[in-house]
Amino acid sequence: MNSHGEVVIVGAGIAGLCCARVLNLAGISTTVFEAGDDVGGRVRTDKLEGFLLDRGFQVLLTSYPEARKIIDMEALGLRMFAHGALIRAEGKFTALHDPFRHPTKFVEAALSSAGTMSDKLKVGSLRSELKALDPSAIWDRPETTTLEALKSRGFSEKIIERFFRPFYGGVFLDRSLQTSSRMFEFTFRMFADGDAAVPDAGMGALARHIHVRLRCNETRLRTPVDRVDANGVNLRTGQRIMARATVVATGQSAAAQLLGLPATRAWCSTTCFYFAAPRPPVDEAILVLDGDNRGPVNHLAVLTNAAKSYAPAGQHLISANVVGQQAMNEEQLLAAVRAQLTEWFGTEVAAWRHLKTYSIAHALPEQPAQSLAEARRPVRLQKGLYICGDHIDQASLNGAMESGRRAAEAVMEDFKL
Ligand SMILES: Cc1cc2nc3c(=O)[nH]c(=O)nc-3n(C[C@H](O)[C@H](O)[C@H](O)COP(=O)(O)OP(=O)(O)OC[C@H]3O[C@@H](n4cnc5c(N)ncnc54)[C@H](O)[C@@H]3O)c2cc1C
Repeated sequence: MNSHGEVVIVGAGIAGLCCARVLNLAGISTTVFEAGDDVGGRVRTDKLEGFLLDRGFQVLLTSYPEARKIIDMEALGLRMFAHGALIRAEGKFTALHDPFRHPTKFVEAALSSAGTMSDKLKVGSLRSELKALDPSAIWDRPETTTLEALKSRGFSEKIIERFFRPFYGGVFLDRSLQTSSRMFEFTFRMFADGDAAVPDAGMGALARHIHVRLRCNETRLRTPVDRVDANGVNLRTGQRIMARATVVATGQSAAAQLLGLPATRAWCSTTCFYFAAPRPPVDEAILVLDGDNRGPVNHLAVLTNAAKSYAPAGQHLISANVVGQQAMNEEQLLAAVRAQLTEWFGTEVAAWRHLKTYSIAHALPEQPAQSLAEARRPVRLQKGLYICGDHIDQASLNGAMESGRRAAEAVMEDFKL
């Protein structure tokens, strides 16, 4: 039997690291046990031939309230994407920029064929309505599905299919738009307030940024935990680690397994294809959307248009993303992706070199309507045993950070600090 930090944390994803951070700041020592070979969980970046490959396309929204509290955005070297999207529909591309964030593109947005004039006014009024609220008040708003919320606001079929379905389908990894309308409103508000960005050194830098700032913490990589209780954990090696408190900061399936609870929510999945290209197919750091909803690619981004550091000099990195489980095997899917992108960008796609594919079955826990009826689930399972992760608050970096902080605060409350 061994004693480690006062608190043991299982999982070095964003939630576990944020929990350790708050405890360390209060002078409580932590030991984080991580099954993987690095910190970050779902937020990691691989290096391949000088390219930075995030494990699935993802971005940090600079307006996330929790990120604002703990991230030094400047030190992270964030590179921003444009506000809006380039929509591919009926054989052509149409830009839909956010006129509030790109005033010079106001006329272009107004004339854009992606929706009707009434749609654009409705976007403006939704924006004003949500901006008038404290973001946390969104979790108390009436809850339905995202699709229902859009329809009941009177958005046209055209803008729903061309913009909202591929854009928010890409954000939630749920093209059915059955995701809770609270999640939609929160994310819409975050896009209205801040930027979508990636760090110069890749998304994995976000986890390292939090990790290097921990003060009294030991992190043990490649150390899976098999059992947890309020007095510590059992490692897979059989070793027993005693502690004053235990925090389970794994994804929801692993948490259910460790705690002997049923897994309650299904997962949303995605497949990300990375290509190296001699020249970018678009010049802007903008999300390109499948407005025809034919797939398989739902959204595409040229990462090097946002951050040049993602590729060696003279090359460009393209991320093409498929949402949901696919019937095709990886080779067939890659061929279908190439065929679709050739239809979009022409023969230049033949010169794109496929670098790597990330198939992520467990990307985000599903968040259907009513799943966020309680947007902040209890983090204290019993005195001495706590839980955090993006399945506890909302399925996002913000939710993971927030739940980690809340678990640490519950520990401190029980330690009477
Ligand atoms: C492709 C993709 C795109 C995304 N896009 C965005 C986006 O654009 N914006 C956004 O805000 N969010 C996005 N997300 C969601 C965001 O990345 C997650 O919500 C967040 O990273 C979850 O963090 P977590 O700490 O809760 O869980 P995880 O990152 O899953 O961390 C859990 C950790 O626990 C470890 N672990 C599990 N079991 C054990 C065990 N038995 N013993 C020890 N360790 C264990 C795991 O190895 C892992 O490191 C995306 C996610 C993916 C996958």
